[in-house]
Amino acid sequence: MPELPEVETIRRGLARLVTGRRIEGVDHRPARLRGVSPLPLDRLADRRIERVDRHGKFLLVRLDDAHTFLVHLGMTGKLLFAAPGSPEPPHIHLVLSLDDDEELRFIDPRRFGMLKLLPPGPVADTAHYGIDALDAGFTEAHLASLLGGSRAPLKAFLLDQTKIAGIGNIYACEALWRAGLSPRRLARNTPKRKIGPLRDAIVATLNDSLAQGGTSFNDYVDEIGRPGTFLTALAVFQREGAPCPRCERAVARLVQSNRSTFYCPGCQR
Ligand SMILES: [Zn+2]
Repeated sequence: MPELPEVETIRRGLARLVTGRRIEGVDHRPARLRGVSPLPLDRLADRRIERVDRHGKFLLVRLDDAHTFLVHLGMTGKLLFAAPGSPEPPHIHLVLSLDDDEELRFIDPRRFGMLKLLPPGPVADTAHYGIDALDAGFTEAHLASLLGGSRAPLKAFLLDQTKIAGIGNIYACEALWRAGLSPRRLARNTPKRKIGPLRDAIVATLNDSLAQGGTSFNDYVDEIGRPGTFLTALAVFQREGAPCPRCERAVARLVQSNRSTFYCPGCQR
C-alpha cells in the first residue's frame, strides 16, 4: 500500500509532467471505487492543472477553476502518465487526455482507491487529518503534545492519520526500530528524552525512502511505471526471523489492530 514516500514520489513526478497542462478529454469508466465524488468526474474536461499537492496519502490536483481533483491510491491504485496510443493495461477506471495527446490513467485492480472532484473550499476528506509527517511544523514539541494525549500503543498511534498523516505499516515499523522504541509501549509513556529521536526517526525514514523512490513489494510504481528501491534498506518490516541489523537478535512479528508489526525484541524498549 502506497504510503507518504510513494505518494510524494508520484506527486513530484506529476508536478513536473502535468502542471500547466489542459485536460481535453475525460474517459470515465465507472466502477465502484471507495467514496462518492460530489461532482461528476466528467467535469474535469477543459480544466487546466495548476498545481499538484499532497496531504498524507492523498494527492490533491488543483485546477484553474479552484476545484480540486482528489486521488487516493488505496491498496493497488496507480496514476500513470502514458504516451499517446500506448497499450492499455486492465483495470483502468479513468483516462484524462492532456493537451498534447498524452494521457493520465488511473488503474486499480482491487478498487480501494478513491477519485473525487471537489468544489472550491476546504477539502473535507483531509479536514480531520493530522499534520503531514514531512510538514516543517512536525516538530518534537508537536509530537510531544500528540503523544501525551494518546492511550494507544506507539504502533497504532503512528498509523492514526488523525494524529500524523502519511505513515503506514512499513514506515511505522521502521521508524520505531530506528528510534529503539517498542511498538507495544503506550504512546503517552514515551520517555521525554526519546521524543526528539522518534520525531527524527520518522522524518529520516520517510526521507530515506523518498530518496529511493519509495518501497515496492509488488504493486507500487511511480507515475511512469518505475518501482521504488527502498525495499533492500528495510531493517525489520517483513523480515521476521532475520537478524536485527543493530543487535543481531531475530526480528519478531506480532499482530496489533489486525496488522502485522515487525520489531526487534532485543533493542526496541
Ligand atoms: Zn535489535
